[in-house]
Amino acid sequence: MTPISLPRVRFAHLPTPVEPMERLSARLGGPRLWIKRDDQTGLAGGGNKARKLEFLVAEAQAHGAKMLITAGAAQSNHARQTAAAAARFGLECSLVLAGESPQQINGNLLLDVLLDAELVWAGDQPVDQVLQETFDQAWSNGRRPYLIPIGGSNPVGAAGYVEAMAEFMEQGIEVDRIVVATSSGGTLAGMVVGSAMHGYGGALSAIRVGKYEQTEPKTLQDLAEGTADLVGCTAELPLDRVEINNDYLGPGYGVVTNLEREAIHLFAQQEGILLDPVYTGRAAAGMIDLIQKGTIGADERVLFWHTGGTPALFAYAEQIR
Ligand SMILES: *Cc1c(COP(=O)(O)O)cnc(C)c1O
Repeated sequence: MTPISLPRVRFAHLPTPVEPMERLSARLGGPRLWIKRDDQTGLAGGGNKARKLEFLVAEAQAHGAKMLITAGAAQSNHARQTAAAAARFGLECSLVLAGESPQQINGNLLLDVLLDAELVWAGDQPVDQVLQETFDQAWSNGRRPYLIPIGGSNPVGAAGYVEAMAEFMEQGIEVDRIVVATSSGGTLAGMVVGSAMHGYGGALSAIRVGKYEQTEPKTLQDLAEGTADLVGCTAELPLDRVEINNDYLGPGYGVVTNLEREAIHLFAQQEGILLDPVYTGRAAAGMIDLIQKGTIGADERVLFWHTGGTPALFAYAEQIR
């Protein structure tokens, strides 16, 4: 397999392991389950953004950038991993975070502070607007900023998941379905393109964790097509094998209900694996429900793609325990 010829810096701990989840499979009386451990990618606590940042940081360096700027929720894993990447490469970092600074500095937010990121609270302003303003200001102050969109979800970032699919296919574990959390869509778009390039023929079941425009089917298609262009993929994209599931949005992004809570406890107790409250807890809850309803068949081979986020557990202690 020829690696795609985009600039890339290497810091993620790859390949991440694929492990069987025998006790959980038996407990659910259902499909054979495996898990891909992208919670173990390194970069200050692991997660899917490390793969994207290998390409995004390389592009920033190619532009001669001296600073990374991005945005997210107060407990954003993407913001935390961007701050870590900036520290690692001697870049400044500014993070635009939604809302007001909370009373308690914990979870990912604590790590942002340790990693020496500048925090800009968006208050009641739209985060995207404050992100652009922060970038413009840094630019006019001569700080040479490089803007990374929310979630790192542009074609450059998504290239990380094109390569992740190559990695998974090389690990030689055949599955009928991959279940993954989706929010800003870059992970899923990269997987779509990677499936086409590297011959994954199963389903991609994406559990939406928030109502972002990025994971509307049309926007996902645009991002996947842009990614395919960037990496030089000419194979037909298997968009018909992508199922974007809206059934587990619950009361909204980052609001923990019993469903997430039970999934987090189940993974911890059956497998010793930590999920996160916002993304993988919700995706796992969706997967478990789909197994119990028979939508995911008992004879299937299923990979749960763990995308990280465990530092946020500590910020949600009261809702989870
Ligand atoms: C960002 C994130 C996701 C979603 O990935 P997108 O590429 O934004 O769709 C899933 N899980 C975790 C833990 C994340 O931090």
